[in-house]
Amino acid sequence: MIRKVSKHIVQNEPLLFELSSPGKCGYQLPALDVPPVDPAKTLGAENVRPEIEDFPEVSEFEVLRHFTRLSTWNYAIDLGLYPLGSCTMKYNPRVNEVVARTEGLAWAHPYAPEVLSQGCMEVIAALEQALAEITGMDAVTLQPAAGAHGEFTGVLMIRALLEQRGNPRKKVLVPDSAHGTNPATARMVGYAVENIKSNERGMIDIDVLKRAVTEDVAALMITNPNTVGVFEENIREICGILHEKGALVYMDGANMNALVGISRPGDFGADVMHLNLHKTFSTPHGGGGPGSGAVAVAKALTPFLPSPRLKRNGDFWTWNYDLPDSIGRVRAYYGNFGVLVRALAYIMAHGANGLRQATLDALLNANYLRALLEPNYQIAYDAPSMHECVFSDDRQAKKGVRTGDIAKRLIDYGFHPYTVSFPLIVRGALMIEPTETESKRELDLFADAMASIAREVENDPELVLKAPHSTRTSRVDEVKAARNPIVRWQPRS
Ligand SMILES: *Cc1c(COP(=O)(O)O)cnc(C)c1O
Repeated sequence: MIRKVSKHIVQNEPLLFELSSPGKCGYQLPALDVPPVDPAKTLGAENVRPEIEDFPEVSEFEVLRHFTRLSTWNYAIDLGLYPLGSCTMKYNPRVNEVVARTEGLAWAHPYAPEVLSQGCMEVIAALEQALAEITGMDAVTLQPAAGAHGEFTGVLMIRALLEQRGNPRKKVLVPDSAHGTNPATARMVGYAVENIKSNERGMIDIDVLKRAVTEDVAALMITNPNTVGVFEENIREICGILHEKGALVYMDGANMNALVGISRPGDFGADVMHLNLHKTFSTPHGGGGPGSGAVAVAKALTPFLPSPRLKRNGDFWTWNYDLPDSIGRVRAYYGNFGVLVRALAYIMAHGANGLRQATLDALLNANYLRALLEPNYQIAYDAPSMHECVFSDDRQAKKGVRTGDIAKRLIDYGFHPYTVSFPLIVRGALMIEPTETESKRELDLFADAMASIAREVENDPELVLKAPHSTRTSRVDEVKAARNPIVRWQPRS
């Protein structure tokens, strides 16, 4: 087997400020042959910055090389496996990009009149319908910009419904395995958060839940499969316990990559959920956005969906703002439209059978990797894995090597690290999600690298503790970088 990396070429690179020399210029244009405009007059003097001190002066070619060289320091999904658990870093088929760049879609103004926007509105309607079908829910909003924003939108709707019924209630239950955005969301919507302990199989403890669900509880926020990659077997019963007490079930759908085409949250009792289109439905992410946190709701919540809603008038789409119970807008425009186009292209290119196959392949890949890694790493829970598997660093910790060290050593083998130290209920977690994208060869290479690191931990732990060795920058002071970041260059005095 040919290993992924031998030695990577990494060139040193100064800042553009340091490359600068006076008089250099990035462009050459003929002299102006019309009277110059005074920007202070057109923009207002207060909006015009005179001289920018030490602004870099570099040639076009220098700029080009600078950024191209910097780009070689990056790792990307287009270079290899990106096994970040929970993040679902799958391949983004290029056909999505082609469709998103279609002139009529790419150049449409979000506030163009309805008569000029029929095609874009049709795209939104088609995606809403497809996602309602996939989730088994009644209606979908595409306004929220990402998963956390979708959670916020969903819990606002829960609150609005309960208020209408006479009592918004006080608490939201969140399992201890939840993503941090769940409790943060509940707090932002004005609820107290109560933690629900998981049992030894990594699932919600039904008896603990039963005791916790009182008339004070507005909702349970549950992730399924949960963040340890385990399907909540008792999900129907769990939903029943909440409903019996007049509470609702919010499902965090970030892990829908394990369910699409196989199981529908609407069928097992969820009342509202978000989908991360930038995870499950293949739109590029990892650089901080844009994303889309589509929210699907059951019938009882539809009156509360964000305004405006699409409405069909004969064969004409209109935006309906006349929604007295709506929680209002959660975002300008109609969501991150370019992401919506990519997601719809992905869904339509796959079709129902293709989506189901992608899910089955994701499950197969995760379980294949789990089997290859289990001889060297401690699996966190015995329960069957879905689309990701979670290990702990128990065996390596005996040699003083922790999950973060193993992750850094992986970089030397040419892989992006897995998710480190999440979920919090697993001590020293290694959370690995290969997605359906990866070939057997890539998975074998990854498992081989992980086995090799496990041997290094036994024979030469220092090698792992000081990794990475092959990158331009090795260990940085993470605490200092987080507490005291210097993000702006200042001229030296
Ligand atoms: C990614 C993720 C979120 C948050 O979604 P964003 O799109 O990053 O805001 C919430 N819950 C889980 C389980 C996730 O993996």
